[in-house]
Amino acid sequence: MDCDKCDRESVMHAAYSGLHLCEDHFVASVDKRVRRRIREDDLVPSDATPDNPQTWVIGLSGGKDSVVLTDILYRTFEKDPRIELVALTIHEGIEGYRDESVDACEELTDELGIRHELVTYEDEFGVQMDDVVEKDPENMAACAYCGVFRRDLLSRYAEKLGADKLLTGHNLDDEAETALMNFLEGDVAQIAKHFDASLGGFEERDDGSGAREEQDDFVPRAKPLRDVPEKEVALYAHVADLPAHITECPHAEEAYRGEIQELLYQLEENHPGTRHSIMAGYEELAELAAKEFGARDEGRAELGECERCGSSTTRDLCRKCSLLDAIHAV
Ligand code: SF4
Repeated sequence: MDCDKCDRESVMHAAYSGLHLCEDHFVASVDKRVRRRIREDDLVPSDATPDNPQTWVIGLSGGKDSVVLTDILYRTFEKDPRIELVALTIHEGIEGYRDESVDACEELTDELGIRHELVTYEDEFGVQMDDVVEKDPENMAACAYCGVFRRDLLSRYAEKLGADKLLTGHNLDDEAETALMNFLEGDVAQIAKHFDASLGGFEERDDGSGAREEQDDFVPRAKPLRDVPEKEVALYAHVADLPAHITECPHAEEAYRGEIQELLYQLEENHPGTRHSIMAGYEELAELAAKEFGARDEGRAELGECERCGSSTTRDLCRKCSLLDAIHAV
């Protein structure tokens, strides 16, 4: 099948748009969607100038999503002195997994000439995820511990690096899955947070860790890849020959998300465009929910400081510090 825009052979067919695209036109269409999202979300403020540049910290895991995001951001702002990019990688201490993806991060940032910071659970918390899984003092899924630690490091290091924004590589499938999970669980407070996030707050699904009672310190987040389906992100990494590390984490076990993924896949197969329509409706709903809850400022006012690390929390010890106590006690 030929490309719809030229006579070269197509490498992809997007059922939701009906388009067949060759390599060059496919890459251009992904770039265009990411740049449009950056514009529509007003990520570059009007007061950013070469003398007053913005620092954007990218959460770079070495997986396809964050690698593609870093590559597109680099090419978008390569000649724009208003934006400085810094890549931040978190090493959880997972044997046979994270070392390889850190290699991918180093290869990419070396090639692009982007500053790269590496932070480890071992140095920061004195734990490795492999040991946490072994000890499991709270009888929780690995990701519930890992999410708390990662959120803490991303927030703290984004601040430390002087970030004006923290950017992550969530794609359209990730976002539609999260939307559907929140909706199916009837979790309106969490839906409201999605709108809050688009205003520069922090939105992350409850992972069962109890971290939802806490609020990360406030570096605005952004997800410029959120209009691009996962398969297209993977194809982009392949076509652009990017050093993405594809293996799945051996501790990944979010069973409910797996069910939702399967459901969405079937819906998208039978009704192309489902993910896009879920997100369009979800964003409207989130705005209404956020107005109703008005939770952001009121919620923040109730937060105190963790007596050990100073993070925002409603309790004496934040969730991260109490989890670390439980792990170190085993
Ligand atoms: Fe951590 Fe879970 Fe991600 Fe593995 S899959 S890195 S355990 S959050």
